[in-house]
Amino acid sequence: MPVYYLMLGAPGAGKGTQAKRLSDKIKLAHISSGDIFRDHLKRDTELGKLARGFMSRGELVPDDITIAMIRERLLQSDCADGAVLDGFPRTPAQAKHLETLIAELNGRVAKAIYIRVAKETLIKRLSGRWMCRLHGHVYHDIHNPPKTPGVCDIDGSELYQRDDDKAETVAHRINVYLEQTAPLIDYYRDRNYLIEINGEQSIDAVSSDLLAKLKQG
Ligand code: AMP
Repeated sequence: MPVYYLMLGAPGAGKGTQAKRLSDKIKLAHISSGDIFRDHLKRDTELGKLARGFMSRGELVPDDITIAMIRERLLQSDCADGAVLDGFPRTPAQAKHLETLIAELNGRVAKAIYIRVAKETLIKRLSGRWMCRLHGHVYHDIHNPPKTPGVCDIDGSELYQRDDDKAETVAHRINVYLEQTAPLIDYYRDRNYLIEINGEQSIDAVSSDLLAKLKQG
């Protein structure tokens, strides 16, 4: 039976970093909706053209487009055993569709992992964030600097700042998160899927808390 882990938390909470670590550990595909959109933007596909304006304004891409994209991705063979979902669902409608899709696939949600970080911390983190051009590996000026400034430790590609990590857009993205995505925390808590992690610790401490809480069940 395929199993799905859902990562919840604001932009800058560390979802992507922790999702990647968890997916390596439990050997499930890491599916990041933001990475898929950025890949479409880079390749200038039809989907990329549709998503571009929303993304650069720090708004959510409409549900129908996002749901269709994730559906197609979860049907691919590398997701046969399930996935760690990072950045999806982000609205109640997406959560409902995901439930239907997982039921169709005869799968189940294992846990929804909420990484909790205060708003002031998020703003500081996002404005120091850098990403590599080739694979989207993430760095931070203070918390996770690359060995050589401007160069990815893992693949040697150039580091850049995401357009939507600029100060004006960051504040808007956090508000969009609070309005549209934060209600999902209660949604999954009510269904007994939620585990909550203090995201204001080092990356390693967050990972070990997360694994310990998953073990507890
Ligand atoms: P992220 O890398 O997860 O911060 O996503 C970057 C941007 O991609 C978001 O600000 C949205 O514009 C878009 N995006 C990613 N995931 C979703 C989603 N589940 N629903 C709508 N838009 C999304």
